[in-house]
Order: sequence, then structure tokens, then C-alpha cells
Amino acid sequence: MKEDPSASRRGFLRNFGFGFGGGVLRVGGMLGKLEKIAEAAQNLDRKVGFALVGLGSLATNQIGPALLKSKYCSLAAVVSSDPQKLQRWSTQYKLPENCLYSYETFDQIAYNSAVDVVYILLPNSMHSEFTVRAAHAGKHVLCEKPMEVSVEKCERMIEACQSAGKQLAIGYRCQFEPHHLEMIRLARQQVYGPVRLIEASFGFRLEGAEQWRLKRELAGGGALMDVGIYALQGARYLAGEEPIEVTAHETKSDPEKFSEVDESIFWTLKFPSGLIANCATTYLVPGMNRLWAGADQGSFELTSAFGYDGQKGQTHKGPFSFPATDHFAVQMDDFAQCLATGKKSKVSGEEGLRDVKIITAIYESIKLGGQPVQLS
Ligand code: NDP
Repeated sequence: MKEDPSASRRGFLRNFGFGFGGGVLRVGGMLGKLEKIAEAAQNLDRKVGFALVGLGSLATNQIGPALLKSKYCSLAAVVSSDPQKLQRWSTQYKLPENCLYSYETFDQIAYNSAVDVVYILLPNSMHSEFTVRAAHAGKHVLCEKPMEVSVEKCERMIEACQSAGKQLAIGYRCQFEPHHLEMIRLARQQVYGPVRLIEASFGFRLEGAEQWRLKRELAGGGALMDVGIYALQGARYLAGEEPIEVTAHETKSDPEKFSEVDESIFWTLKFPSGLIANCATTYLVPGMNRLWAGADQGSFELTSAFGYDGQKGQTHKGPFSFPATDHFAVQMDDFAQCLATGKKSKVSGEEGLRDVKIITAIYESIKLGGQPVQLS
């Protein structure tokens, strides 16, 4: 029998509403319970409301449009330093004045019941401040990658969300994309035998010299933090185990432009099973964008692996393909379902922290002239 999609969406929204009520019910007395049941009832039949913090390129070109395609999520508020941007978004997405915030008034979001999730789209080193403030305001958090620029700051984010009883997820959109899911299936189910080697690389040519991605204070690092993290993620989710050792090298063709951050990095991860992953990232040239796995009886790969679209898959037997999806919409819908069911997101804060720990070790190995660094 065919499922009625509108019925299943109504079912989801009902669960979502009561999911919230149930979460809070545990803390109150009888009066509190009745109030919370009434509050949950008000949440019925509405989508999960997202507040976007930082209205830059990703927010404008990807996340706003993705929210219009999402099944379970919608735009509820925006936060920006620029009053003109706020007005433009208000007009475009029909947001009322009381759903527009500056960074200074952001904490008032605690009183906005239309906002369930704060989505952080700021330069990397601002992620922890706004995650902590969002958690204090009683909101769940979806935070863009990289989670933050240091292990300590990531740990602070996890702690703040845990203490507030709120979920924290990181913007690892590829973990929801069908071609990547197929790569994970081929690897984990050992369809061609155990995977022995992985090659993962992502990079592009970073034009211009005046932007936060070149400033250590805001970016924390260069190509590695920005896009190398996709290659690192890819290696880890194909391996299905955690690396135990890393060695890394850096090259710089333009030491002036890249005086504060890395331009190109090449690193090798060793895994407990003996699997080796060779990874690379760059800001020097366009087109570095591949995820490949070699197993005992064959190989499988994605080209255009980590872009917003255009993934091309093939095994040694021939191509595979899936319909194009909006990576951001499917990731946000997955998060909404996690909130409705209480299930922890597979791209939780802990997952983001693991990557930042490995990135720290990669930088350490570079400092040591390419010596191996052990990962605990
Ligand atoms: P942009 O530079 O385009 O936008 C960042 C926004 O942050 C700015 O427009 C501004 O918004 C706000 N901001 C606040 N303080 C500063 C500051 N000091 N300098 C610069 N901007 C500031 O960046 P992106 O949108 O490309 O990236 C945002 C985040 O998303 C990053 O963490 C990045 O790594 C991640 N990202 C993830 C992608 C993915 O595929 N998952 C792809 C691209 C980026 P306002 O004017 O509204 O205050």
C-alpha cells in the first residue's frame, strides 16, 4: 500500500510537538506538566523552526533555499550584524520584525517559541560562542563545519548543549547524501572484500586576499580546516574505524597570501585494521575532489565527491547514480527527526570533536617535520 506523504508528515509533526512536551515534562510538577502539554499542543502541525546566524554566502545561497525545500523544517528567524540584510531576508522569507536579531540581541531568542534550532553559519572561531549562547537560550544547535578551531572550544560546545539538554549536530551534509551512503554501504558491508586503501581529497582555488578564510584568528587554519575536513570525514566514514596515527606535510606556493593559514596539506592516516588513507587538500588549484576506496576484490569511487551536487559514482564494474538531493535539506530533515524521536544525530558534537582532534594532530605532525603523531 502506498504511504500518504501528507499523513506521514502530519504524524511526524505530531511526534515533534509532543517530543518537545515530553522532554520538558520530566522536570516539572503537575501544574508544570499541564502547562507543558498545552505548549506541546501548540507545537502540533508546525515545522521545526530554524534561526540562521550569519547571513553570508552559505546562508544566502544554500541554507535559505534548502529550508524552502525541507519537509520538516522552516525558517523562523535570522541573526546578522547588517540591518539591511535583515530587512532583505524579512521581505524575502516573510519574517516578522520580532524574528530579526543582531548579535547583540541574539540572547532574546530564548523568548521566541517559533525557534527550535539555531543554525550557526559564522566564521569558524565564532562557532563556540554562539553555540553556548544558543544552548543557554534553550535551543538545539546545528553548527557548520569545522566545529571550532580548537579541541577545548569543541568540548565547551558539547558541555553547554549537554547541560542544557539540547542536541548539537555539525554540518556534515555528505553523511546524508545518497552517493556517499552507497560508498559507506559498499565499504562497511565489504561488498568487494575488506577495504585496504582509501584516497580522499578536496580543494579549490581560493581567489582574493581579503577574507576571513585567510585569517588565523577567524578561520583557525586554511584549506585543511575548510575543505580538507571533507576528505578526513570521507576517510573516516568509509573506514568505519578511528585512525591511530597520522603523518602530514605542507606545501606553500604563495607564502605571502598564506602567511597565517595553510595552502596545501597531504596526510596519511593509519587505522587499527591496517587500512591506510591518503588524503590531500588545497587552496591552490581547482578540481581536487575525489573519494576512492580499494578493496580486495575491487574498487569504488566518487568524483565531484564533496560539492553541493554533481556526485558521480562508479565501482570497478561500472557507474552508479542516485537522484540529486539537496544535501542541506536532507541533513536538516534528519536533525528534525532526531529531535522528534530523541535519537542522537549521527553527526553529533562528538563527531565534530573527533575531526578537530585529528586536524590538531595533522598540524602537529607538520610542525614535527612530518613525524608520525599517535592518536588516542
Ligand atoms: P561567509 O563569509 O560568506 O559568511 C559568514 C558570515 O558571518 C558573514 O556574512 C557575516 O554575516 C558573519 N560574520 C560575523 N562576523 C564576521 C567576521 N568577523 N568576518 C566575516 N564574517 C562575519 O562565509 P560562509 O557562509 O562561506 O561560511 C560560514 C560557515 O559555513 C563557515 O564555518 C564555513 O566553514 C561553513 N561552510 C560550510 C559549507 C558546507 O558545505 N557545509 C560550505 C561553505 C561554508 P552577517 O553580515 O550577517 O553578520
